[in-house]
Amino acid sequence: MGPMKIDNLHLVDHPLVQQKLTLMRQRDRSTKGFRELLNEIGMLLCYEVTRDLPIELIDIETPVASMKAPQISGKKLTLAPILRAGVGFLDGMLALIPSARVAHIGLYRDPRTLEAIEYYFKAPQDLSDRTIILMDPMLATGNSACAATTLLKLQGAKDIRFVCLLAAPEGVAQYQKQHGDVPIWTAAVDDRLNDHGYIVPGLGDAGDRMFGTR
Ligand code: URA
Repeated sequence: MGPMKIDNLHLVDHPLVQQKLTLMRQRDRSTKGFRELLNEIGMLLCYEVTRDLPIELIDIETPVASMKAPQISGKKLTLAPILRAGVGFLDGMLALIPSARVAHIGLYRDPRTLEAIEYYFKAPQDLSDRTIILMDPMLATGNSACAATTLLKLQGAKDIRFVCLLAAPEGVAQYQKQHGDVPIWTAAVDDRLNDHGYIVPGLGDAGDRMFGTR
C-alpha cells in the first residue's frame, strides 16, 4: 500500500520517514545530522513519488533463461530543487535516479511581503516531454512553490509532481488553488503558519539549519 492520499495530496506516513522527521524537528539536531536526515528522507520520498511511473517489458537474458523484464518507460525525469533548501533533497533523489536531469530554480522570500522573487532559472530545454519532480522541504505560504510551478509551466512543463517535507494547511490550499493539476507529496501537514510565515510547530528555517548559516 502506498501513502495515504487526500485530494491530490499524498501523505507519506511511513515509520522511517516519520521517525527521521521527528529527529529533524528537534532544535538541538546538528547541521550535519539535519542534512543527512534530509537526504535520507529525500530518498524515501523519491521512492514514493515515483511509485506509479509507467513500466514496460523488455527482453533480457539472465544466465539461466530469456525473459520479459520490467523497466521504467515513458518520459525522462527531471529533478527541480527550489534554491536553496530544495538542494537538501537532491543527492538523496539522485542516488535513486542517477540519470535524471536537474533544473535549478532560484527563488527567495522577501522577508517583508513573503513574496517569492526569482533570481535564477536553468532547466533542460525540452520540459514538455519530461516528468518533473519539483522539490522544496517547506510548503509554507505556497508562494515559492506556486512561482516555481508557474516558471516550469511557462517553459512547457505539463507533468509536474511537487515533493516537500512539511506543509502548512495554508500552503496546501494556496498551491491547490493555483496548481490543482499538480499532486503534492509530503511527510506531514502541520498546524498553521505564524506571522513570520514559519510553519508551526515546524522545524525552523530549513535552509539555515541544513547549511549552518545561523
Ligand atoms: N521556510 C522554512 O525554512 N521554514 C518555515 O517554517 C517556513 C518556510
